[in-house]
Amino acid sequence: MDPLVDTHCHLHRAEFDADREAILQRAKEAGVVALLDPATDRASNRTVLELAHRYPQLHAAIGIHPHDAQELTEDALSGLAQLATDEKVAAIGEIGLDYYREISPRPVQQEAFRKLLRLAHELAKPVILHCRQAEEGGTSGQSGEAYRDLFAILRECLKPPIRGVLHCFSGDADAAKEALDLGLYVSFSANLTFPKAESLRRVAKEIPLDRVVLETDAPFLAPQGRRGKRNEPAYLNELVESWAKIKDLTSEDIARTTSVNAYHLFGIGPAPKRGKVAYLIRNSLYLNLTNACTDRCVFCALSDEQFWKGEGRSPFVKGHHLRMSRDPSVEEVLEDVGDPSRYEEIVFCGYGEPVIRLKELLEVGRRLKEKGARWIRLNTNGHGDLIHRRPIGPELKGIVDEVSVSLNTPNAEQYLEICRPAFGLETYDSIKEFIRECREAGMKVVATVVAMPGVDLEACRRIATEELKVGYRVRTYDDVG
Ligand code: SF4
Ligand SMILES: [Zn+2]
Ligand SMILES: [Zn+2]
Repeated sequence: MDPLVDTHCHLHRAEFDADREAILQRAKEAGVVALLDPATDRASNRTVLELAHRYPQLHAAIGIHPHDAQELTEDALSGLAQLATDEKVAAIGEIGLDYYREISPRPVQQEAFRKLLRLAHELAKPVILHCRQAEEGGTSGQSGEAYRDLFAILRECLKPPIRGVLHCFSGDADAAKEALDLGLYVSFSANLTFPKAESLRRVAKEIPLDRVVLETDAPFLAPQGRRGKRNEPAYLNELVESWAKIKDLTSEDIARTTSVNAYHLFGIGPAPKRGKVAYLIRNSLYLNLTNACTDRCVFCALSDEQFWKGEGRSPFVKGHHLRMSRDPSVEEVLEDVGDPSRYEEIVFCGYGEPVIRLKELLEVGRRLKEKGARWIRLNTNGHGDLIHRRPIGPELKGIVDEVSVSLNTPNAEQYLEICRPAFGLETYDSIKEFIRECREAGMKVVATVVAMPGVDLEACRRIATEELKVGYRVRTYDDVG
């Protein structure tokens, strides 16, 4: 499995004094290659830093937990500011609001939170946010005050998108949405694995995986089966399995994606491999033939506005970086695939339009079939006929078993607005024509639509199933792959 990152474990705590080395060894054996230890009170800020310097895989977050907000004097704050410039400090945390135990009075918590957010801003560090409501579950009424106040203070002190994570999330769908709108990552601890946490799992299902990081919150919140005992980073695997079930992905997909997220957010753990040609999601092997495209969809990570600026959306799909420095040759693609019979299906996809390289696509496809590929799918924008100035549907027959075409809108005008094709208004009708050719050639065809605000999904469904007589699938706007 890909390496894991535990973005929240309090390894500095006394519970680990007797066997910290053994804990780190077990974490390593479980694949946890980087760990982030957030300080909670004044004294622990020095300890997390000392430990981070002793163990290379351990990183520190500097902060004051809302329980200890009263400790944040001016003197303490300047002390933290000094510590936080250390190279092993990956974040400011954990900070936030805790109305559940309310150990510090609410106004004191809020004031400390503001000061620490401003510190994070000055130092350009991400934040680790703690939020606990007076009562668990729901954000409405009395029980929603903690989240409401947290979001209000965040908006007051920082400008979205905010670099940070809302850790050990326990709110409802509205709170999750607000966190995502602010640009935050969301993380759950083993609370997600508890049998009674059905509603929390429903919230988790709706959170795009590219905004999720993993945490144990050790020594607290041991997973189901070990409840009440001391938690430790090696148990992160149980959370990975829960996520895999919730998202209908493999544990590998969860590990890879969340580790890439942790790298982006905190700069810890291994740097992701860039420019992948063949990449695995579930048991499908995807092939990235080119980054060139004849569309410039507003939602695409390759579009000018969105492209990799070190934050926000980026050319990653489920933890795979798809921006290549050049197009791979046929031989390079085949070498990257290895034995194609190992996979349920091989998909020509990637960020870019594979049909632009039709000759190479057909050559790769033919040789993969010879080597035992079980099923070959093409994900395309459907511009093939316009790109090559002839009907290419029949040429795909025998090599491609299934074609998935991005229809995206119910009419040519809206297609122009959202997909901004190189061929102008005639593009939409040509896509429909391409779909017909593929259906008539006997391939399985599915028209897909990215659920953008303002797109009439019902009209799209009718065009696909009634007019074109092919399959239909809606894709979530911000959850590609
Ligand atoms: S068709 Fe795909 S690769 Fe091309 S711009 Fe649209 S989303 Fe991006
Ligand atoms: Zn916390
Ligand atoms: Zn914590």
